[in-house]
Amino acid sequence: MSTNFRLPGPTPLPPQVVAALGREMISHRGPVFQSLYRETLAMARQVHRTDSDVLTWPASGSAGWEMAIVNVFSPGEAVLAVVNGDFGERFARVASRLGLDVSRLEIDWGAPVMPDQLDRALQEHPDVSGVLVVYNETSTGVTNPLPELASMARDHGALIIVDAVSAAGAIPLEFDAWGIDLLFSGSQKAWMCPPGLLIAAFGPRAWAAYEESSFPKSYWDAGEAKKMAERGMTPTTPPLSIVYAFHAALTMILEEGLNNVWERHRNLGDIAREGVLTAGLELFAQPGYESNSVTAFLPPAGVKAGEMLTLLRSDYNVEAQGGQAHLADRLIRLGHMGWAHEAEIRQAMAAVGDATSNLRESGATRIAVESGVT
Ligand code: PLP
Repeated sequence: MSTNFRLPGPTPLPPQVVAALGREMISHRGPVFQSLYRETLAMARQVHRTDSDVLTWPASGSAGWEMAIVNVFSPGEAVLAVVNGDFGERFARVASRLGLDVSRLEIDWGAPVMPDQLDRALQEHPDVSGVLVVYNETSTGVTNPLPELASMARDHGALIIVDAVSAAGAIPLEFDAWGIDLLFSGSQKAWMCPPGLLIAAFGPRAWAAYEESSFPKSYWDAGEAKKMAERGMTPTTPPLSIVYAFHAALTMILEEGLNNVWERHRNLGDIAREGVLTAGLELFAQPGYESNSVTAFLPPAGVKAGEMLTLLRSDYNVEAQGGQAHLADRLIRLGHMGWAHEAEIRQAMAAVGDATSNLRESGATRIAVESGVT
């Protein structure tokens, strides 16, 4: 039995993407690449639901934090960072390291940030010119209510800068209609590609802020990337194989239909949650805000996440992931984004149920042996 690869990224590659990865190199300054890249960006704009710009860089998702900050802010500028998980924490840390004046809106991990909480924080910090938020907090399996948060940020005249690394391509995203200013994601999540391509959408207010930004920038200069994209190229050598892969993946997404893709993920989220509850385990995310791209849950009482992950791998061929930061031992995270379908998720959840029973039985035996009652 092949591995049921259920990490919240990287994710499995569909055959069309694997085939695209095998393609020979071409000149990244020649007409074939130019038309491929133009088509890729046009499809990427469609799936972001934007008429504005989508750009790419050879980089992992973490680069998005720095790329976003240096393009639209200036050193010392005040921003509000929403922290309700490890990725929000890292985004805030990058902003501080780069010299922004960062106020933090701290929310319990597992809970979403609610618009009224953002409203209060923005009233307390009326000077902030941007809000940094993670749409889908992969570390906790929580989806923040982005449309409402974006509208709140705009009401306060702040830019909304979104880490959508584990959201884009899996859960609803309306870049223009929701008034998002800048949003980025990574190829290895719901885009069904290998790691290595950073994808970013820039709206009109982000471009206006870019004109004012005084951060030194070179590799991350979005203005340079935009100028080259208009010619169907990138400022540096692009990761050609991942661009081929991204083109193939976007073609698949548009063929399936974006609404169908979002609906498939919603259904997979339901199946994963139902599996956790049927096993008698507890979901980590606050009800109503559970992610449809990754499900986070607690292992059986007295069992460390690592123990359950090892059992899932050795006895069921299911490769899932543990928690992050202080939740490292407390959470199991199971990905269902990208090239994911009912059969694999049902198999993974059956494995979770079976492993839970086995862990409970061995736990009961261990307690009985330790207390001398056998
Ligand atoms: N942001 C979020 C929400 C993520 O889930 C991840 C990775 O899991 C990252 C950022 C960092 O991306 P990368 O590991 O590609 O640098």
